[in-house]
This record gives sequence, C-alpha cells and structure tokens, in this order.
Amino acid sequence: GSTIGILGGGQLGRMLAVAAARLGLKTHVFEPGAEPPASHTAHRLTTAAYSDTEALIAFARSVDVVTYEFENIPTDALDTIEAITPIRPEREALRVSQDRLIEKAYLEGLGLQVAPFAPVNDAASLQKAVDQIGTPSILKTCRFGYDGKGQAKLNTPDDQPAALAAMADQPAVLEGFVTFSREVSVIAARSVNGDVACFDPGENIHKNGILHTTTVPASLSATQRTDAVLMAAKILNALDYVGVLGVELFVTPQGLIVNEIAPRVHNSGHWTQNGCAIDQFEQHIRAIAGWPLGDGTRHSDVVMENLIGDDMDRVAEIARESGAALHLYGKADVKPGRKMGHVNRIAR
Ligand code: ATP
Ligand code: MG
Ligand code: MG
Repeated sequence: GSTIGILGGGQLGRMLAVAAARLGLKTHVFEPGAEPPASHTAHRLTTAAYSDTEALIAFARSVDVVTYEFENIPTDALDTIEAITPIRPEREALRVSQDRLIEKAYLEGLGLQVAPFAPVNDAASLQKAVDQIGTPSILKTCRFGYDGKGQAKLNTPDDQPAALAAMADQPAVLEGFVTFSREVSVIAARSVNGDVACFDPGENIHKNGILHTTTVPASLSATQRTDAVLMAAKILNALDYVGVLGVELFVTPQGLIVNEIAPRVHNSGHWTQNGCAIDQFEQHIRAIAGWPLGDGTRHSDVVMENLIGDDMDRVAEIARESGAALHLYGKADVKPGRKMGHVNRIAR
C-alpha cells in the first residue's frame, strides 16, 4: 500500500491521518513539536526540525507522496523533499498563498475581485498606500499571519504609526476594508486527472479574528452559489492543483471578493465530517493519492462551532447534546485562543 507523508502534526494533520487510515493508507507525520495532535493518529511520527536535512531525507524516502497542513514550510525543506518525492498540492500553490501580496496579484490576474491593495514596507509607502486606498483599511503582514494575527485596522489616517509598529518591520500589505454582508468559503478539490468537486459553500462568523462558526447551507442566492464554485474551480485549474483548497470570500453588493486562499484542508470545512459521506480530509487524501474524488454532496444542515481555549469547560455538556458530534484534538494544555476541538451540530 502507499504511505502519505504529512508536514505538520496539528489538528489538520491529525484528521488527515484518520482519513488516510480509513482508506487503508499509512501516514508518516513530520513535526518539530513534541507530542503533536497527530501523534495519536498517524502510523509514524518524526520529531525533527525543518532544518534537519537528514531527517527530512529519511522522511521523504519513507513515503510515496508528501502533503502539508500549513503554508509556511521553509523553502529549503521543500527542495530537499521534492528531490525525492512529489509534493501535492504542488509548490506553486504554496508560493502564491505564502505571501498576501503575491496572492492578491495572482487572484487579480485571474480576473477575480480582491480588496484594493498596496505594498507597505515603511512610513512612506504606508502614506502612499493610504492616499491611494483610504480608510478604513487593514494593514496585514505579507507572511505568517493566521487567526487575524499580524493585522492592524486603520480607522483614520492618524492610525498609521500604530499600525506600522504592529508590523514589527515585516513586509506588509494595506487592504481596503470591505463592507461585506457575509463571509463564506468554498472547500474545493481537484484530482490528478483534473476533475473538480466543491463542497457546499459555508457561511463563516469570526470572533476576535478567529473562526467561530461555519453554517451550511450559507445564505446565498443561486447566482452567488454558482459564482463561488466557479471562482474556486478557476483557481484550482490555474494552479493545476491536486488536493483540497479553501477559498475565503466576502459577499458584497458588487459580487464576491476573494479574501484569501489556503492550499490545504480548512477549518471552515470541518462541517463536512458530519454533513457529507466523504469529508474534506478524505477528499484531500483521495486527490493526492491519485484516487477519484468522492461524493461530497451535503446530506444534512450543519453548524460547526470551534472550541477555543476555555470553551473546553463546556465539553461535558456538549457531550450530552443530541445531534452534536464532538471532535477533540487531544491537546494537553488549554491556552486562550488555542483551537482545542470543534463540534458539528446536525439539523435534520
Ligand atoms: P485565517 O485564520 O483565516 O488564515 P488570517 O489571519 O489569514 O485568518 P484574514 O482571513 O485575512 O486573516 O482576516 C481575518 C478576518 O478579518 C476575515 O475573515 C474577515 O472577517 C476580517 N477581514 C480581513 N480582511 C478584511 C478586509 N479587507 N475587509 C474587511 N474585513 C476583513
Ligand atoms: Mg489566512
Ligand atoms: Mg482567513
């Protein structure tokens, strides 16, 4: 049988390993941190730094294909792996999604709408960007941001010094603030032979910059639903992508605006575990293992709620609810803002 290599042993790696196991495939997870969530579910775990070339070589040799659960894998590590084993989704998807400036330019180049944006490196370029885009706007670091980290909102031009300080000298991008009616995401998949399948779009609510709930079905018109799926397919095909991709969208009167893409399984796709026969994790494993895509038709309405930090205090209560499927990540310490698990509530 074949073995799937997974870079990153967090909750996404953990759930990918479970899906692979259900298909009779083995997984080998590479993760620098000790006892990561995936250590409970993967067939094999290597605990080593991405700078440990020997460990990377041994890892790459032990698997048939390598995938990843996060975007920020060091380039040298990817080079080492790729000399031995194919990486799916391919590196172009990482190159594009690792940097918000490159990502926005790429999406715009595909004819998709993005928020107005401009590069920022210092006070002068920020002033120029504010002159061009105005306020309100959001300054974001180009790289390494997640859960709303590395972002500062400018309500007025006077907020420039504080926003710039929050970037801590990292390259940044100023984005116009989009007044959206709702946020949705499309979890899309593409197989080795180019078939595309999309899960039903989900509607997302964020709290303190972190995803709080995803609800399916999203309140979208038939036209918006079609647009969302076509936009995702356009990105997949342009990237010649293999695997699952998350596409975050703002719904506005002027149409759908792409916020960002994630070249991996996505938190807003966790509802598929209990809303579809084939969930996003199995779909990703199928795609990268060269299998046909599965049937991801939604069979139930679902609300996914993330369990973050002290939300864990409610687990015993949630465990007694009917129609509530709990997914816990086995993380030892509870920390504020830390994703500890999620619950999928099914409405039949
Ligand atoms: P993730 O955890 O999804 O990777 P992130 O740190 O990459 O998050 P974004 O998705 O860029 O951050 O932004 C987080 C949230 O902030 C968005 O989901 C949205 O609610 C809000 N937001 C971001 N950019 C804009 C914008 N240009 N206009 C309005 N709201 C925005
Ligand atoms: Mg992001
Ligand atoms: Mg986001």
